[in-house]
This record gives sequence, structure tokens and C-alpha cells, in this order.
Amino acid sequence: MFIEPSRKKEILHPRTGWIEVICGSMFSGKTEELIRRLNRAKIARLKVEIFKPALDKRYHEVDIVSHNETSIRSTPVQTASEILLLTGNCDVVGLDEAQFFDNSIVDICTNLADNGKRVIIAGLDMDFQGRPFGCMPNLMAIAEYVTKVHAICVLCGDVASHSYRLSPSQQQVLLGETDHYEARCRRCFNLGEKAKLI
Ligand code: ZN
Repeated sequence: MFIEPSRKKEILHPRTGWIEVICGSMFSGKTEELIRRLNRAKIARLKVEIFKPALDKRYHEVDIVSHNETSIRSTPVQTASEILLLTGNCDVVGLDEAQFFDNSIVDICTNLADNGKRVIIAGLDMDFQGRPFGCMPNLMAIAEYVTKVHAICVLCGDVASHSYRLSPSQQQVLLGETDHYEARCRRCFNLGEKAKLI
């Protein structure tokens, strides 16, 4: 059987995959960083596929849109398992708003990386109460690279890592970032939480 030289090289030395996580609070530039990495992979002529949970419908059905309006085409999926079916021959898999996937996303990402794909995940590391958000701690544990990006506290100008919820709702998932949340440092976050109790 004839195997073309480039393919032969791939069979003898299969490319290794890995997992990258970009995490942080709201307004920290997670999605911008995801888009930057994916665009660079495209320049390198790698085949890129991007997914996000279907529940995130804030701006547009198909595009990932970050707050500074740079965007990139993505496919909304209802469940994590759909991702395996849709990533057959791609080199790089991007996931945005990963905190909204259930824990099965951990095995899916492991499977993708084991099969030679670069997986780049962006998501909120903490919810509005400062608790680890859903599947994100597990994704950070299995990743080769974790990057935590930060916002700026709107009250004092320090580095912010908390998403402070302005409205009284106690639901963990509340969409519509600019209306309901602001970035705060630990101190201003805690002061705000105390004031809510009064
Ligand atoms: Zn502050």
C-alpha cells in the first residue's frame, strides 16, 4: 500500500495532543484570548472547530462573540458528547463558556487530546458566590496548561478575579453579563456580599 511521505511521518511519529484552559472572572478577556489562540492556529493552516453550550444565546446563535466584538464562528451543542461526533478530522478544538457543560466534558476533552488534538477551553472558574464553577476545576486539573486572566475591579481598580452579581437572584446560571454583573477584587466582592445581608 502506498502511503504518502507526510502521512508516513504522522504514523511513525503521531502528533501529541494536549489541553489548555483559559479561566477567570467575567470581563477578564477569556474569550478574546481563546479567539487569539484559535486565529493563530488558523494561520498555521490547522483545521479548527469551535463549540459552545447551546444555552448561551446572548448575542448570536452561531458566533462566539466576546465583549470587544472580535468574533469567530462556532457551533452550539446541546450536550458534550456531540463534540466527539463533530471533531473527526480537525487539529484544534476550541470550547467557549465551558463552565456550562456537565462533567462528561472532562472525558470528552481527555479523549480528544489522547487522539492528538489540541484542546483550548475558556470558562468561568468561579460562580457569582465565589465557588468553583461546575466542570471547570476538573478541566483545570487534567489540563497541561492553565492560564488565569484577570479583570479590573470597577470599584477600586485592583486586579479583579470575582464576578459580582448586582441583582438578588440566587440561580447559578443567570445570563446577560453587562446588566447583572461587575468585576470586583476579593475585598470589594466581600464588602458587597456583606452589604447584601444588611
Ligand atoms: Zn476592589
